Amino acid sequence: MSETPKVGFVSLGCPKALVDSERILTQLRTDGYQVVPDYDSANIVVVNTCGFIDSAVEESLDAIGEALDENGKVIVTGCLGVKSESILARFPQVLSVTGPQAYEEVVGAVHQHVPISVEHNPFTELVPPQGIKLTPRHYAYLKISEGCNHRCSFCIIPSMRGNLVSRDAGDVLSEAQRLKDAGVRELLIISQDTSAYGVDIKYRTAFWEGRPVKTRMKELCEALGELGIWVRLHYVYPYPHVDEIIPLMAQGLILPYLDIPFQHASKRILKLMKRPAAAENNLTRIRAWREICPELTVRSTFIVGFPGETEAEFQELLDFLEKAQLDRVGCFQYSPVEGAAANELPDSVPDEVKQDRFERFMQTQSKISQAKLQAKIGSRQIVLIDTVGETDAVARSASDAPEIDGVVHVSVDDYDIEPGDFIEVDITGADDHDLFGVIPA
Ligand code: SF4
Repeated sequence: MSETPKVGFVSLGCPKALVDSERILTQLRTDGYQVVPDYDSANIVVVNTCGFIDSAVEESLDAIGEALDENGKVIVTGCLGVKSESILARFPQVLSVTGPQAYEEVVGAVHQHVPISVEHNPFTELVPPQGIKLTPRHYAYLKISEGCNHRCSFCIIPSMRGNLVSRDAGDVLSEAQRLKDAGVRELLIISQDTSAYGVDIKYRTAFWEGRPVKTRMKELCEALGELGIWVRLHYVYPYPHVDEIIPLMAQGLILPYLDIPFQHASKRILKLMKRPAAAENNLTRIRAWREICPELTVRSTFIVGFPGETEAEFQELLDFLEKAQLDRVGCFQYSPVEGAAANELPDSVPDEVKQDRFERFMQTQSKISQAKLQAKIGSRQIVLIDTVGETDAVARSASDAPEIDGVVHVSVDDYDIEPGDFIEVDITGADDHDLFGVIPA
């Protein structure tokens, strides 16, 4: 039998791009390719790029250049791939360029440039039923839709990924079940707009395990809640129907965690940003959610220095932070993205003002986040173990999503625990981002 062709893979960008990478890798493995972690032994290299902000574009271009230098046979895909002319102008040796979600084209290009032997036997080179995962074994991203129907003025994702296309609920639930069976203990639900799930297919009724399930956020969450593992929602917009999800969190069906990118608090700025659900009174909503589910963790991101943002509007944002008492917050200084509508807006904010507002924002929020962490000292939490060292383990509580939030450091002398275990921990300390705890005697 001839040698199995080997593919190197570089995956850049957000969890949505990671899921695209997993899907391409799963197909390549199914087709008989071996995936290798180095340039030297690879017959060809696929670079899955990100094109969201300028620094991501640079990182992607550097990765393409490095793959060409180190290997020479390179296929480019992902968000930056929509700008194929500029990639090919800079790197004419690149063999093929495709945009995001172009699974078949990427796999086809690999087949074209490194053909697979007809002797490949899919029955002896089985792909695990959960597919190829790029995350640790105990958690996985589950993408429920592609694309987005909104047109936020600072964002070019819809022009790269197209309009919303929801996956059938039966399909999503079958994948969730397979992941659970393969040892996944936490599902991270991702999309561009999780609350819009199913709107494109009019919340069509799907079937899972012989019963009907509507392709809609609430019904999907109820069904996922039956799996008995952690289910964490990302990229939820504050539409009124999000209120229906909070009781499911209070009942323990899904994690009491909402990743909800508010981006600003001023109605005028939100309108200029063309944000979904911009007219909602988010402060009132958050208070009502916390009444139903007091343990709710709210994570959000904000942009400061958006074109036209006045000092008074920025103050409105700081007041919102003080009143909303959000648990986890990320902040970005506005920077124009090539092709975004916001670039045409007047009154851009000078860089030094953006920097000043960013620092004031972070000062305000870090006091809030620290106080929230301090308030957890003395509590008992269930955590999921990520890694285990000689004397301590790194774990996460319901409030901590991987990669973006803090962690819980647990002393584990003489305890027999493994990544993927759920254990109880008594919280004994906190610093600016993380908690520290011990296993109860
Ligand atoms: S909701 Fe707005 S920011 Fe998010 S992907 Fe859609 S257009 Fe972009």
